Amino acid sequence: MQSLLRILAPLAVPAALLAAAFVLVLYSAALPPSLEGLMVYGPHVVLALGVALAIGFNRGRVVFALLTLAIAYSAQQLWLAQGLGTPAASAVYAALTVFVPLNLAALTLLPERGTFNRHGALRLAVIAAQVAFVAWVAGVERSDLIACAYQRFLAPLGVGATRMPHLGIAAAVLSLLVALAAALVRRSAINASLAGAIVAFMVAAHVVTASTTYAIFTAAAALMAALGVLQESYRMAFRDELTGLPSRRALNERLMSLGGTYTIAMLDVDHFKSFNDTYGHDLGDQVLKMVASKMAGAGGGGRAFRYGGEEFTVLFPGKSVPEAIPHLEALREAIAAYRLALRSTDRPRKPKGAKRQRGGWRGRNAVAVTVSIGVAERSERRPTPEAVIEAADRALYRAKGKGRDQVSQ
Ligand code: GH3
Ligand code: MG
Ligand code: MG
Repeated sequence: MQSLLRILAPLAVPAALLAAAFVLVLYSAALPPSLEGLMVYGPHVVLALGVALAIGFNRGRVVFALLTLAIAYSAQQLWLAQGLGTPAASAVYAALTVFVPLNLAALTLLPERGTFNRHGALRLAVIAAQVAFVAWVAGVERSDLIACAYQRFLAPLGVGATRMPHLGIAAAVLSLLVALAAALVRRSAINASLAGAIVAFMVAAHVVTASTTYAIFTAAAALMAALGVLQESYRMAFRDELTGLPSRRALNERLMSLGGTYTIAMLDVDHFKSFNDTYGHDLGDQVLKMVASKMAGAGGGGRAFRYGGEEFTVLFPGKSVPEAIPHLEALREAIAAYRLALRSTDRPRKPKGAKRQRGGWRGRNAVAVTVSIGVAERSERRPTPEAVIEAADRALYRAKGKGRDQVSQ
């Protein structure tokens, strides 16, 4: 249950904003006429603020997502708000429903490459080419192409109650699935916000001539993208990229808010330098990820952090050393028992020269590591977190001296 919540967490903000947009639509009818301008210019303001934020945080993917939404909003105001009667309007409408979701989904798959460089120029050129294509179709009134988008090929699936061209519905559903997968697999707030933006755009496109609703959902989509930038930047600052654990900066903040009783454990991988030398840095990174995943599940309310390099910290708020030790022993044993599979490319480079180590288990196809742990609690003698960490470090040093693969206090 908890892991399901963790997996779905990136979707929380987009879902909340979608709900807020629906509520706002319900109440927008009661708005006084003096606030009508808000509904026209509000989305422009949110889009512009979002672009400024995305440029400031160097999130080019969000810049181009917002540009796509801005083009869609302007196109709605210029051609669609008055109705879909003309061939040009139906061409623009079909193009928006197909191209906007596909562009947003494509951005969830592309790597982050900033805005003002040749990658950004290429992405801008792709968007410009789509605009030019739509302008051409609308201008020459290629009714055959337009009719193609409006083929009702989804009717057998029961799709009926929308003016949206079926090609657009298919593109939007496909795009949404791609964006959701990209958000959940990469645990990315920006990808989640783009998935939410696709849903918001589908709602807006469904009611395309209802300008207020269209404006509210466009603003919601832009706000999602902006919040996605903030969430991802927060994550980058406070999470370690390799292991996904909270970083040293997060630990430092947590230490400032501790109460009167707590225990701190420092954990260090044994003989890790020779592990790296023998099996390579990539497998070393795999080991760190494995250690981190075991630590994330440490019992007894222990919160794990990556302190730096191959050193980790477990913080037990409200716990004494004797209360923490059973959980640390279980953690140490779980790590020592884990077998990391070796692919043929990972086999030792210099098997004879590599040190054999106590507690280390080396087979032909699997490898294991051990960790040493030092632990200390707050006391009269050690009143500050820094002093407790120092004491835990000294205990760690003793664990190393006594032969490693053990917990010392
Ligand atoms: P000991 O048992 O005494 O701790 O020996 P050790 O070799 O683990 O000690 P030392 O602190 O000298 O080695 C730390 C090594 O950890 C050196 C460095 O190559 C490796 N290391 C630090 N950060 C990373 C990382 O992010 N990835 C990988 N693969 N290795 C790392
Ligand atoms: Mg070390
Ligand atoms: Mg070490």
